[in-house]
Amino acid sequence: MTDTATYDADLKLFIDGSWRAGEQADAAAVINPATGDTIGEVPLASTADLEEALAAADRAWPAWRATDVEARGAILHKAAALLRERAPAIGALLTQEQGKPLPEAIGEVYGAAQLFDYYAEEAKRSYGRVLVRPAGQRSIVIPQPVGPTATFTPWNFPIYLLAKKVAAALAAGCTVISKPPEETPGCTGALGRALADAGIPNGVFQLVHGVPDTVSRQLIGSRVIRKISFTGSIPVGKHLMKLAADGMKRITMELGGHAPVLVFDDCDLEKTLDAVVPQKFRNAGQVCVSPTRFYVQEGIYDAFKRGFAERARQVKVGNGMEAGVGMGPLANQRRLPAIQQLVDDAKAKGASVLAGGERGDAGFFFQPTVLADVPLEADVMNNEPFGPVALMRSFASDDEALEQANRLPYGLAAFVFTENGRRANLMGDGIESGMVGINTFAISVADAPFGGIKDSGTGSEGGPEGLQSYQVTKAIHQA
Ligand code: NAD
Repeated sequence: MTDTATYDADLKLFIDGSWRAGEQADAAAVINPATGDTIGEVPLASTADLEEALAAADRAWPAWRATDVEARGAILHKAAALLRERAPAIGALLTQEQGKPLPEAIGEVYGAAQLFDYYAEEAKRSYGRVLVRPAGQRSIVIPQPVGPTATFTPWNFPIYLLAKKVAAALAAGCTVISKPPEETPGCTGALGRALADAGIPNGVFQLVHGVPDTVSRQLIGSRVIRKISFTGSIPVGKHLMKLAADGMKRITMELGGHAPVLVFDDCDLEKTLDAVVPQKFRNAGQVCVSPTRFYVQEGIYDAFKRGFAERARQVKVGNGMEAGVGMGPLANQRRLPAIQQLVDDAKAKGASVLAGGERGDAGFFFQPTVLADVPLEADVMNNEPFGPVALMRSFASDDEALEQANRLPYGLAAFVFTENGRRANLMGDGIESGMVGINTFAISVADAPFGGIKDSGTGSEGGPEGLQSYQVTKAIHQA
């Protein structure tokens, strides 16, 4: 263990500029998934706490939207600098709460800082239009902040995904009430403290924890909230969309995926294997764009399977606070039976297990698992495993590869490995997903849109599109 192993988190709600324990003092346990031990308690917001947060967000909005974009940006840049300065300590909280290896956790904090810096600048490039009209007349179109926003974010990238929403919303001039996941309150609280220490005015950014369904119903049901942004599972996303529909609230939904990876026989096989295996087991596969269905061209299928399984067996699994660990535990105990069931179902339907397939001894560990020749009717070929499970099948032609890639209702990310430029273009054009990585997994970046189509969601985060999702347009006509 490193000397940052002590869990040193001050778990509070952040409402109207004050850190507090909450009205009712209900609490949820925080559990270290590497050991299964309870390491803290996070207070849960009461109805009265949430009403107070809503009133504060409403009160703070007029002044925040009227604040010069440069001044808003200065606070975001300061928060970014504080996140970088505090990255080792915040990363340690993240690893202890969520399980990922410490270097990945620290990298996530840097990624969040980059988002704050990016949106601090991007908001300055938020231009409108002047329309052509007869002399003396004007018609203009201007973007304006949508208003108080509620965000709901998950436990797999608790800091980065929170930053993606909050940085864009604040830069656009919205006030924000965020409900981060109850599993990781220390690291998301640290992001809140960075914003508070950077000088965010009272009520402009607030953090609340609680029973997810209770919090989301109250926030989405309030007339104060104008926009909802959610990242999480498809069933919860659909549920929140229905709640939002009642109040005609704007939404952004970043939901699940089941990313296909098309590996063509003209790829550089060793390079491809070196890229895909760490990516599959990154964050124990709990990534919405995790490469999941590997479709490999017949000529290289055996070599690919062999190379993948060898590398999977070499992944060092352990407590993310230990040096050299490549994969930590799953974040939640409930994911263990869910993944075991998917693996057992695939085996029963004829898949071969080339590596792993079982949970570990203590903590919430599941072995890096490779399943080959997985029948299409296996549950795992149709439902997102959200765990360290790679699925493999072979294909013969480009058409077959494309058909397989597009066969599910998911449409978040897809990946292609080929050295043939025309094929790369055809696959990039033909795959039905929000993002396609060709010979790369670097698809989640500050300056490009990230979002799903089909059941994987609606709207985008990142890039100018992410800023626009917190804006409404107004046309002003002057005769
Ligand atoms: P879940 O559906 O119970 O919860 C997913 C997330 O939504 C969690 O963060 C949870 O706190 C939140 N949530 C649940 N009900 C809510 C409600 N009524 N209102 C507001 N927020 C609510 O699933 P889980 O067991 O936590 O995670 C497993 C599944 O979630 C995975 O299979 C995966 O599909 C999905 N997931 C996706 C992402 C992503 O990045 N898109 C992240 C985490 C989880």
